[in-house]
Amino acid sequence: MIDEKKLVILTEGAKYDVSCSSSGSRRKNKYGEIGNACFAGICHSYTQDGRCISLLKMLMSNDCIYDCKYCINRATNDVARATATPDEICELVISFYRRNYIEGLFLSSAIVKSPNHTMEMLYLTAYKLRKNYHFNGYIHLKGIPGADSALIEAAGLIVDRMSFNIELPSETSLKLLAPQKNKTAIVSPMKTLALDKYYESPYKRRRDFLPAGQTTQMIIGASPESDAHILKLTEYMYSYYRLKRVYYSSYIPTNFETSLLPYSPAPKIREHRLYQADWLLRYYGFTADEITGKDGNLSLEYDPKCAWAIRHMELFPVEVNTAPLDMLLRVPGIGVRTASRILIARKHAKLDFDALKRLRVVLKRAMHFITCGGKFIGSKSEYDLSRLLAGGDGQNMTQLSMFEFDTALSALNGEL
Ligand code: SF4
Repeated sequence: MIDEKKLVILTEGAKYDVSCSSSGSRRKNKYGEIGNACFAGICHSYTQDGRCISLLKMLMSNDCIYDCKYCINRATNDVARATATPDEICELVISFYRRNYIEGLFLSSAIVKSPNHTMEMLYLTAYKLRKNYHFNGYIHLKGIPGADSALIEAAGLIVDRMSFNIELPSETSLKLLAPQKNKTAIVSPMKTLALDKYYESPYKRRRDFLPAGQTTQMIIGASPESDAHILKLTEYMYSYYRLKRVYYSSYIPTNFETSLLPYSPAPKIREHRLYQADWLLRYYGFTADEITGKDGNLSLEYDPKCAWAIRHMELFPVEVNTAPLDMLLRVPGIGVRTASRILIARKHAKLDFDALKRLRVVLKRAMHFITCGGKFIGSKSEYDLSRLLAGGDGQNMTQLSMFEFDTALSALNGEL
């Protein structure tokens, strides 16, 4: 069985990867209470049906031969190193699973010896888990850019999800901050995982090739790319690589010896705005070009849908009783589910503002952009709008709080 010191190193080293959502708190157990929380080790992820599952999140090795400037595990950083064998990981997964600690595994690795050697070890771990240890739970494997495509395809047949991290949003930044990586090595396996043959019979029918799809992650704020650039890239990847999700990870400084990287972390609110913009791309019919402002960045003050609506006041107000779905989806305060409730309800009766409240429209925001039976109760003044939509005087921008009801709800269900 893997020793505890090794386990601490390998789980600590994995905590920066957000492409499987992670627990981010540390809390000690108190007398008379059950459980504690820590930054690394077991994290939580969400299934498509909204179930929260616990995953063992760890690296196979942090002994990297590459020297990506932003990474804690870079070759030139003086940190404790460890590498686990496939059997050590398998035994750990099975023993944690039997004790009900976890429902699956998220396994990543630094590059040990070579991309092919690392991918082989990752594949072998997943293979042994499935065939020797008969583990039928969830496995998310982080793919290694530059590894042979045969290995990548073989892994896709035994794990649930794979991800290749884009890491930095442009080739220039990649060359500067991760000189041993290159765009082709990252993008080629993503294309392989998106090949048409895997989404047709017999794979599709049997759902035996990556049933949970592929994802990727980008670091935000380590390099100068604008939100417009990041969203364009995101849009492209959703269109061509069949990605389930793009994850955005705010840059956290771990290297103070280089002037190539910012000294302070990227603001969390920027990451949050990018996630909101991502929802607009995937579910609200927006294109990347429409979402950002003239300077190419998202407003930090209000969410991207509100910001877009304020820039396009000539299109509002829309009459909720007659507006088409694509226009309803552009009204701040009307989400995807609310829009479909409106479509159903208005077939039976003319909707008024009370009816909209019952349908869970966020009237505080929506009232400035809609009429109900011709009645308008909002404000058309740009000054009033920006104050109201920013939730106050528009000056007091704060870091995102998960404990404000509206913010928390929107972060969980993506309704904007
Ligand atoms: S390849 Fe780069 S990002 Fe990955 S572990 Fe090694 S140094 Fe870190």
